[in-house]
Amino acid sequence: MKFKIVSREDKRSEKIKVTMKQYLTDFELEYDREEPEIVISVGGDGTFLEAFHRYVHRLNRTAFIGVHTGHLGFYADYTPDEIEKLVIEIAKTPFQVVEYPLLEVIIRKNSGERDRFLALNESMIKTAEGSVVFDVKIKGEYFETFRGDGICISTPSGSTAYNKALGGAIIHPAIEAIQLTEMASINNRVFRTIGSPLILPKHHTCLLEPKKDKSFLISIDHFSRTYNDVKSIQCRVAKERVRFARFRQFPFWNRVRDSFVTEDGK
Ligand code: NAP
Ligand code: MN
Repeated sequence: MKFKIVSREDKRSEKIKVTMKQYLTDFELEYDREEPEIVISVGGDGTFLEAFHRYVHRLNRTAFIGVHTGHLGFYADYTPDEIEKLVIEIAKTPFQVVEYPLLEVIIRKNSGERDRFLALNESMIKTAEGSVVFDVKIKGEYFETFRGDGICISTPSGSTAYNKALGGAIIHPAIEAIQLTEMASINNRVFRTIGSPLILPKHHTCLLEPKKDKSFLISIDHFSRTYNDVKSIQCRVAKERVRFARFRQFPFWNRVRDSFVTEDGK
């Protein structure tokens, strides 16, 4: 089996990377940057996002594992003292795989150009100056005209990230859905939005259509780009999924509790 290790590149992560690489090679696994079947991220959730995007073109042939060298992460949920056990498990395939839903974002320009992205956490649509104004359509029907700082559309596993800071709900990743949360919408007698976060099931496509030609700042997880001449931004649950190699149970709600409430379970 072919593997690749992506590290945050700090001293601790690099050391763990070297150790794991040695162990796995001793088990006759092959280090392969181009076509790894297993990708191990060593660092934090941010490192995991990078690893995901590096291999996003081969999701059906790649399983991911995250080892954290800082605080407990949502994707980086193995500890450095587990790596020996982890290496043995990886070496004796087949391993168990858990799949999580992703967000598909399609940006269409008036010129006919089109960009497609997959997000593991979320996509945010903002503008560098002033407010964004767009019509929000759900399943082809007009829903509202949004005016405000922007909109965040997150995946279930991304619901504990930026979405949570915006007051969105935490969604279990077994639920195939995307969540729309508002960023400072303007609400008065002229402009009105729903105000509450919306949770859309699979096949309920959300379309954002700019009302005036503006330049938008569109982020996909940890990277962002400026777009001009935007015709529409389409969001829905992607047909692709991310695959995690699972070697032990660590239920989602336990991760939520340990990260946000209390670590000793009391
Ligand atoms: P960052 O600024 O280091 O990330 C901010 C924090 O979010 C870090 O503590 C990061 O964990 C954590 N995080 C990332 N994904 C998460 C998830 N699914 N659930 C819970 N926490 C998560 O930037 P980054 O490391 O490149 O990560 C980018 C992500 O950070 C974005 O996708 C966005 O969701 C999130 N973010 C959140 C806020 C906020 O809550 N106000 C602000 C900016 C960015 P690590 O330290 O382990 O990397
Ligand atoms: Mn980070």
